[in-house]
Amino acid sequence: MAGELISGKAISKAIRGEVKEEVAKIVASGKRAPVLAVVLAGKDPASEIYVNNKKKACHKTGITSIEHILDEKISEKELITLIDKLNNDPDIDGILVQLPLPGKLHEHVVLEKISPTKDVDGFHPVNVGRLVANTPGLRPCTPAGIVEMLKRTGIELSGKKVIILGRSNIVGKPVATMLLHESCTVTICHSRTRGLKEICRRGDIIVAAIGKPKFVTKDMVKDGAVVIDVGINRTDNGLCGDADFENVKDVASYITPVPGGVGPMTIAMLMVNTLTAYKSATT
Ligand code: NDP
Repeated sequence: MAGELISGKAISKAIRGEVKEEVAKIVASGKRAPVLAVVLAGKDPASEIYVNNKKKACHKTGITSIEHILDEKISEKELITLIDKLNNDPDIDGILVQLPLPGKLHEHVVLEKISPTKDVDGFHPVNVGRLVANTPGLRPCTPAGIVEMLKRTGIELSGKKVIILGRSNIVGKPVATMLLHESCTVTICHSRTRGLKEICRRGDIIVAAIGKPKFVTKDMVKDGAVVIDVGINRTDNGLCGDADFENVKDVASYITPVPGGVGPMTIAMLMVNTLTAYKSATT
């Protein structure tokens, strides 16, 4: 079976269009546009690209983006002082601290300083707790984007067996929780998992988030399964995902490409979260 492509590019464009429409209505009513503050410490080239893409998405949707570019030698105290200032600024709706942080800065310490109501990445323990409890809160962008793209593709989730490769706090664990809330039966695999191939072959849906180029091969995928490839791997031949796309697409019913799959969805969901944070603060 030849897999149908799930275009994150097209779906994210539609979502950005919806956000743009809502922002335009807000501005037309005489109110200010939502504002996202992006904090980038250091000069990590990949982070610079991500921040630039987020800035472009803000521009396209009418969200105001304010950048804080900081020296890589910034102290934790100075960074926290900036976050406090942004927390207390009523004209800032969302705060995003681009990861990874340089040097000896502790990510968990810094992220916990962001006000949960402005935490558009959904990494604050309060939002993690709300996710687990399935109560309203800001959800992490990549997992939310994965669920949204599955739903908008019309893929039935209830009762499906989902195999997740990777157990990170950013992707694996939150996407597992979200899909559990969608009534999927979820298995989370990691580097110590035994019998990975057999486990993967049981999956109606496979979410690959391990950061290993072309790790998921055709023989690991059940005929007709859906493959969501989260991985972004830079190789000598350019970007590739965690799935061996060229071969896996022959057995999958649906598959996401890399690039153009989960990546653009992550940014679209950041726009959605910024709008949500704005609305919660102003209503
Ligand atoms: P992490 O490095 O934090 O986690 C990787 C996970 O993969 C770990 O749980 C690890 O297991 C598991 N793993 C590693 N090797 C294997 C293996 N051989 N078999 C099974 N599991 C394995 O990565 P992230 O979750 O942050 O990111 C994963 C990938 O997704 C990366 O390529 C990243 O660039 C990409 N990404 C893409 C995004 C997007 O917007 N498209 C957003 C975020 C990430 P263990 O815990 O045992 O070490």
